[in-house]
Amino acid sequence: MKSVFLFLYYRPMKTEHVYIHFPFCISKCPYCDFFSVPLNDETIHNKYIEYLLKEIDNYDPVISNELKTLYFGGGTPSLLDPTSLKKILAKFEINARTEVTIEVNPASADLGKLISYRELGINRISIGSQSFLNGDLKTLGRAHSAEDIYECYENSRKAGFENINLDLIIGIPGQTTASVIYNVNEIIDLAPEHVSAYILTFYDNTPFTKKLEKGTLTKLEDDTEIEFFELISGILEEHGLNRYEISNFSRSGKQSKHNMNTWDFGNYIGLGASAHSFMDGRRWENPESIENWYYSVINRFTGYSESAITDEITLKREFVMLGLRKTEGMSIDSYNRYFKSDFLKEFENKLDHYFSNKTVLAVDGKLKLNPERFSIFNTIVSDIIF
Ligand code: SF4
Repeated sequence: MKSVFLFLYYRPMKTEHVYIHFPFCISKCPYCDFFSVPLNDETIHNKYIEYLLKEIDNYDPVISNELKTLYFGGGTPSLLDPTSLKKILAKFEINARTEVTIEVNPASADLGKLISYRELGINRISIGSQSFLNGDLKTLGRAHSAEDIYECYENSRKAGFENINLDLIIGIPGQTTASVIYNVNEIIDLAPEHVSAYILTFYDNTPFTKKLEKGTLTKLEDDTEIEFFELISGILEEHGLNRYEISNFSRSGKQSKHNMNTWDFGNYIGLGASAHSFMDGRRWENPESIENWYYSVINRFTGYSESAITDEITLKREFVMLGLRKTEGMSIDSYNRYFKSDFLKEFENKLDHYFSNKTVLAVDGKLKLNPERFSIFNTIVSDIIF
């Protein structure tokens, strides 16, 4: 009876981290697994904003008065007009210390829009560049060209952005060592504060995977992808973009606070269709359908009151997997406090082997994966915690 009571009346602490999902795109990229739909009807856009505002109100009891991070992701949030953004931003307390990021498709952000974003308090731009070669972009089915990236980057600087991320995809079919080096050199020349580099994933049921199965598209060998990643990583680090997480590089002090909160197992609320949230051990996902999400918003469903706490074993695995992604490692103290446990004792049997061959290191209260072994991250982490 007691547990039922707690489940019904549970209300978590307030979070200072909010993610907002805008699921519309110019067109659907054939490799994409995110929830996104082509935006071809302005009335849908307006209704979506109206419901986002309602959902923010629904979650008001658990959103802090002052935010540390606010992240507009997608989809393509740069399709949002500044007037809609202004209405959303007016719902939150943000100040100069709040990291406010918006993901931008290079083809959908002109100078006027970027200036408005900056004036509204957005201070970080994440440009979905992916590659600086039009051939790669065509293969990926992207709606932008290399020229759009340069223009968007230059306009972002003109608009006053001092914190810019560029995305890079590695493992694009047909990619060569020369094209990888070309891409990383273009990044070095532009000198962004942050780079996210990801190996292309072939998700089930995407047009890319179907082509792969039919044999009309060829995936690079896994070893080649890793070799390309290491090549890029080395060049970025030589130029002051330090790897602070498996896939992320930044200049000093420019790590993504939004992402760091996730890897540090911090609470956050995700708003919008398909957005994920994590609060005090409870994880939930909003409906992955705009109509179903409308229904949940109008009926005032809030994940923290509807979802059960995740079992402890799963939470422990998530904590370790997320923490070890960072080059600084996972805080052993935080683990022990969170789970009222002794991590080094709990995993002693598994860790001894990895300590002795220096795959895993315990330094200054942090458990770190040797960066040279990041390429086999999944194997090592699974072995330790499963
Ligand atoms: S722009 Fe991004 S979210 Fe939209 S379809 Fe392409 S990869 Fe997916």
